[in-house]
Amino acid sequence: MASTPKRALELLIAAPRGFCAGVDRAIRIVELAIEKYGAPVYVRHEIVHNKFVVDTLRAKGAIFVEELDEVPDGVPVVFSAHGVPKAVPAKAAERGLSYLDATCPLVSKVHRQAERLVASGRHIVFIGHAGHPEVIGTFGQVPEGSMTLIETVADVAKFEPRDPNILSFLTQTTLSVDDTAEVVAALQAKYPAIQAPRGEDICYATSNRQAAIKAIAGACDAVLVIGAPNSSNSLRLVEVAERQGIPAQLIQRASELHWGFLDGVKTLGITAGASAPEQLVRELIDRLAERFDVTEREVETTQETIAFKLPRGLEAAA
Ligand code: SF4
Repeated sequence: MASTPKRALELLIAAPRGFCAGVDRAIRIVELAIEKYGAPVYVRHEIVHNKFVVDTLRAKGAIFVEELDEVPDGVPVVFSAHGVPKAVPAKAAERGLSYLDATCPLVSKVHRQAERLVASGRHIVFIGHAGHPEVIGTFGQVPEGSMTLIETVADVAKFEPRDPNILSFLTQTTLSVDDTAEVVAALQAKYPAIQAPRGEDICYATSNRQAAIKAIAGACDAVLVIGAPNSSNSLRLVEVAERQGIPAQLIQRASELHWGFLDGVKTLGITAGASAPEQLVRELIDRLAERFDVTEREVETTQETIAFKLPRGLEAAA
């Protein structure tokens, strides 16, 4: 008996997508630390927000913990790409632990800006999401009370600074470009003297991935974003598509896809957050190809060539 022909499904695949230079570097640091010191190597917090990455590193000998207290004496510990408050490396040094800092250099850049601003007597308005490890890490670079967290335009309206003439703002690296522009506009309207950061704090990878999905979303009936529910930049990709009125879903892997989501969908957009490996994009496409007659088209909006240096001491092992 002849089998029923598969329904056609066009895939528009956003590029750039997936791993950024900071995530690549952080994963490499854990791998090289295991090679250099032998397993186990402890990692404070998920090295990047992706279960597949964490499980793969765990299988190689990494042990993930939330706090330094859980790291036994005498073993190396790696700090995650999101950055840590200053107190964490200080405590590690106090205990004589050897540590490797996998903080993304673009997050470290924001840390240094925060320090400089506070040292010059400014008060920082930090635009970010409460509770995100990057926000906790950045707040931990400066004395308590010298930085105020603003999440939304409504927060700007409520904010009453002691001195509006000494304000500067900085942002989390993985925010929505559009939402942040609205918050910044509200801040500048209320406090015309507020100082902007020297360069854009939202990182190149976050902006590029948002621009790439924005470019294709309008031509799609639905969008799938591969990423973790705690990955800030992945959640922002869902929002970018939804803002254009396109239904979008975040899935960690192909197995989480509800097939009903594709009912009536002829063109499906696909992208992946900065901490999601390309392997998971391929896995999704292969799964789709089992049910549909898929055609793939990659739409590249920009090329990325950024790579970050490894910390000293690990370079030799690379
Ligand atoms: Fe660095 Fe941006 Fe990647 Fe975060 S998303 S690790 S800030 S490059």
